[in-house]
Amino acid sequence: MKTFNVPGTYRSPLISAVKNKRKQQDKMKKDFSPTLLDFGALQIYLARHFGFCFGVENAIEIAFRTVEENPGRKIFLLSEMIHNPQVNDDLQQRGIRFLQDTYGNQLIPFGELHADDIVIIPAFGTTLETKRLLEKIGIQTEEFNTTCPFVEKVWNRSEQIAKKNYTVVVHGKPLHEETRATFSHAAENAPTVVINDMKEAKELAKYITGEKPSAEFYKEFAGRYSKDFDAVRDLQRIGVVNQTTMLASDTQAIADLLKQTMIQHYRLTPSIIDDRFADTRDTLCYATNDNQEATSGMLEVNADLSIVVGGYNSSNTSHLVELSEMKLPTYFINSDEKILSSSEIMHYDFHTKQELLTTDYLPSHEPVKILITSGASCPDALVEAVIRKLIGFYPENISVDKMIDEIEGA
Ligand code: SF4
Repeated sequence: MKTFNVPGTYRSPLISAVKNKRKQQDKMKKDFSPTLLDFGALQIYLARHFGFCFGVENAIEIAFRTVEENPGRKIFLLSEMIHNPQVNDDLQQRGIRFLQDTYGNQLIPFGELHADDIVIIPAFGTTLETKRLLEKIGIQTEEFNTTCPFVEKVWNRSEQIAKKNYTVVVHGKPLHEETRATFSHAAENAPTVVINDMKEAKELAKYITGEKPSAEFYKEFAGRYSKDFDAVRDLQRIGVVNQTTMLASDTQAIADLLKQTMIQHYRLTPSIIDDRFADTRDTLCYATNDNQEATSGMLEVNADLSIVVGGYNSSNTSHLVELSEMKLPTYFINSDEKILSSSEIMHYDFHTKQELLTTDYLPSHEPVKILITSGASCPDALVEAVIRKLIGFYPENISVDKMIDEIEGA
């Protein structure tokens, strides 16, 4: 895979050593077991895959290069570049300003933009409406467009479904930048509706079967369906695409439910299922699949706790947390600074959207076994900082530098 020019401050000598070694040993990416870093009293199990993905590295490279190559020009980002606070802060410190917040609320009016300003489109992509607005001002959007190719793949898939006259059901977080962008692209070509989760998929199924009166659809899915959507006509033939970072098991279950609904309601035999349901594969990206499988592989270790590092508004990271907390006490942190001491940790509860303080999170026995992974927008340097912080609580441990020597020498 292509390598990108990302600021060295985001890299980690320890994590790079681990990743390089695993890559050499498992070129085909078939082994999802974690890497054990045995420091002595502390044993860290690092997930096989985590950290910056293709789309994030691509976006970071373009953004930093744009700043370097355009001194004196005003540079804006449409919204958060990726869902990582450190990377966004670094870009803002270099003078980049954000036009919208992560939910699309305007921070700087488009009216303040001029044709020679630069507007970087983030890795999630943007809506066609926003793109047209920028083009109307005269802003060139292609050169500074960091939309991930895996997001564009979802747009292409929805276009293919639309061309065959299916309604597009987008399974994603309705307010997430990527889902708003996918909705906009899909709605250009076909009736489109967004569903958030299985609960909403089940409700949608009731409109398909007529169990619920169609008039209620417009209230229940307000703001989530395309213009002129007809809940009777447009739910007779559907196809599903997903936000690239959803939980794989949810995605599969939702597609299965909607397919079964069609089969039963229209009494479809196998050869004519595609009359009503576009049976395409999910549109999760490779990083989502790899990181979720690696988290499941890591969770097979009998550990004491798990730490997931990433931005609190990061969709892919929250799904790693979801997987992890099914098995172990899990602490979702966005920085090593959240580890306050050997007895206190501040961590994010994504269910209640609040930070919590937990005491006595480290067990008293030794060795302590901790699983660690991070989201696709989290710099490896942050994961190393978390490991260094934990090692500091066990002075008799071997050092990180010695561990790097051991990995590289092995
Ligand atoms: S998580 Fe997937 S879709 Fe999103 S930027 Fe990374 S590679 Fe692209």
